[in-house]
Amino acid sequence: MKNKPLNKQQFAKKVKDGVHQIVLPTTFPVGPVNVYLIEGDALTLVDTGPKTDEAWEILIKGIEETGYHLKDIKQILITHHHSDHAGLVERIRKITGAQTLGHPLLQPYIELTPKFTEYRNQFYYNLYKSCGVPEEFQQNFARQQKLFQHLIDPSQVDIKMAHRQQVPGLKDWQVLYTPGHSQDHLSLFRQRDGVLLGGDHIIGHISSNALIEPPLDSTNERPMTLVQYRTALEMCADEDIDIVFTGHGEPVTNHRQLIHERLKSNWRRTEKIRQFLQTGPKTVYELTTLLFPTIYTKELNLTLSETIGHLDLLKLLHQVRVTIIEGISYYSICND
Ligand SMILES: [Zn+2]
Repeated sequence: MKNKPLNKQQFAKKVKDGVHQIVLPTTFPVGPVNVYLIEGDALTLVDTGPKTDEAWEILIKGIEETGYHLKDIKQILITHHHSDHAGLVERIRKITGAQTLGHPLLQPYIELTPKFTEYRNQFYYNLYKSCGVPEEFQQNFARQQKLFQHLIDPSQVDIKMAHRQQVPGLKDWQVLYTPGHSQDHLSLFRQRDGVLLGGDHIIGHISSNALIEPPLDSTNERPMTLVQYRTALEMCADEDIDIVFTGHGEPVTNHRQLIHERLKSNWRRTEKIRQFLQTGPKTVYELTTLLFPTIYTKELNLTLSETIGHLDLLKLLHQVRVTIIEGISYYSICND
């Protein structure tokens, strides 16, 4: 028998009964992304990594290390549409004929029709405007989206999954709908031993952003993503979860404590915004520059989302009121 070279790099590891983890590089500040291969009647890949040659190569090597081949994959479950999680889905489908499983709201984000892209860009343009964002930043979102476009190929969803639905071909697993970070976010739960694949909903080393997204169509209200995120975290705190395998970084074994800390520090930020408003009405943009003075220009979409999320919470609790003047929303403390 040939000896295995000692310094052989490992790309995959078995993290639980029937669950393999493969760590893929990304070009995002968040760092590498974790994807998972789940054994069952249908071999299932959970997330794919971004569409880069480097991630593709490691994905293939990782799958081989688990003892399977790419062609054995019967289905791909996408936790959410961000390109570090869904970028390679179409490439894998073309080679394997695998079906894609995801939340119904994944469809427009992965199909990426020009009509939807236009709808989304227009939504952010109007949103930025109502936030009081200066003209020079107005095209920021559309520009950023263009930069990410090469990291994902348009694709489609074959099987739409609802909250608590059992995953076809994986009888022990069900999906939990965990919106907030994105509207289409699913987590996978195996109740018998409390294993959760948490995507970007629960991450150990960083708190997840509750990104603002447009409603499915313009006749609906914009979703309150931070409120959703907090509620979906509370739902997970109520579940008997033994370990969370996350979309980025190390597993989480103290999920209740982590969720409690996240909710607490998140609420501190809500209070901070309330304090900022004591000195008079402000726009979302003005509050964002006060909350994130060093990063708001670089991460405008993330930081505006954060501010809007907290203002949504304060509005729900009748702590702030909004006055619209010439299309710009001004927030002030509600004293009555
Ligand atoms: Zn994400």
